[in-house]
Amino acid sequence: MKTYKIVLLPGDGVGPEVTQVAHDVLATVADLHHRRFTFETHLIGGAAIDATGEPLPEATLEACRTSDAVFLGAVGGPKWDKAAKRPEQGLLGLRKELGLFANIRPLFIYPELVERSPLKREYVENVDFVVFRELTGGLYFGERERGPTFASDQCVYTSGEVERIARSAFAAARARRGKVTSVDKANVLETSRLWREVVTRVAADYPDVELEHALVDSMSMQLIRQPRAYDVILTENMFGDILSDEASVLGGSIGLAPSASLGVGGPGLFEPVHGSAPDIAGQDICNPVGGILSAALLLRYGLRLNDEADAVEAAVETTIARGARTKDLGGQLGCRAMGQTIIERIKDASAPARHQVQMHWG
Ligand code: NAD
Repeated sequence: MKTYKIVLLPGDGVGPEVTQVAHDVLATVADLHHRRFTFETHLIGGAAIDATGEPLPEATLEACRTSDAVFLGAVGGPKWDKAAKRPEQGLLGLRKELGLFANIRPLFIYPELVERSPLKREYVENVDFVVFRELTGGLYFGERERGPTFASDQCVYTSGEVERIARSAFAAARARRGKVTSVDKANVLETSRLWREVVTRVAADYPDVELEHALVDSMSMQLIRQPRAYDVILTENMFGDILSDEASVLGGSIGLAPSASLGVGGPGLFEPVHGSAPDIAGQDICNPVGGILSAALLLRYGLRLNDEADAVEAAVETTIARGARTKDLGGQLGCRAMGQTIIERIKDASAPARHQVQMHWG
């Protein structure tokens, strides 16, 4: 029997709380489906700075490199805001070292939670899209300069970087509803003009997939006005960071949203979209669903265990359909209790999920 090595990086704030629940879910699934998972817990972010002085210690990186998949809780918090080394450097470094170039954030609305969305029912019902955000280029990795009265951040993209994320997005669209919306700022930025050229060229290899281009300013409006219009949203690093956070609230709470960061060959990184939520950390009130659905993505796209991923997604769906709610969704359940309720559903459920996060990778 194959043994899968899963590295857990709890990190800071609510990170350890959601990581514990994700671990318990993965352990339950392994047990029920007769899989062998080994778990190793390592330091990252502020917790790692406190213990070792580094946000991404070498031991953590080495463990991740030799793993089958990595689960991360969250990093950051006010404690380290003025520190010389920042917790976020741990996450950026890990993405870079593992060669993760695509950050994928699915967004869909559970019918029972439509009323929790900040948008009216007629706008959000049946919303179901995936954001493909490029992770290795753009403003996050360009050269920076700072003088007494000026600052600059360079934005660089190569056509190779654009092409590989574009191909991933088109392949995903092909396995979904066949539409890619590529977001740029081609009326102003040279990097965006390159982006649009390359995406248009790649589209020729996917004649069955419809391509539309959108400018990021207009897209940020349309995402609210007509979120049902989208299937796969493809964009660069900075625009993707902003648009995917905007998108994450449509579902009713940022605590529900999962993400996967994938590369080629090596392990993927799976983490809830939310941050370390210092305002509610340590109180057992955060929503563990984003973490649990990230664990489902880990099973599906990290370990290729589709039945196991289905079981987790179905259990979350049933739990929500039966009315279990954490505080952010107007309920009373704590993080652990919500996790336990979902684990009980995993144990007794045999019904397939009505909704599965559909996309294609590799
Ligand atoms: P945040 O996502 O941590 O919190 C935003 C709001 O959403 C807060 O009110 C919080 O209580 C709430 N929230 C977040 N997760 C929740 C959950 N699971 N259940 C219920 N409510 C939840 O974003 P922020 O406040 O902008 O950032 C806090 C810290 O997290 C910062 O240090 C930031 O740099 C870091 N951060 C880390 C990541 C990451 O690790 N990937 C992502 C975003 C922010």
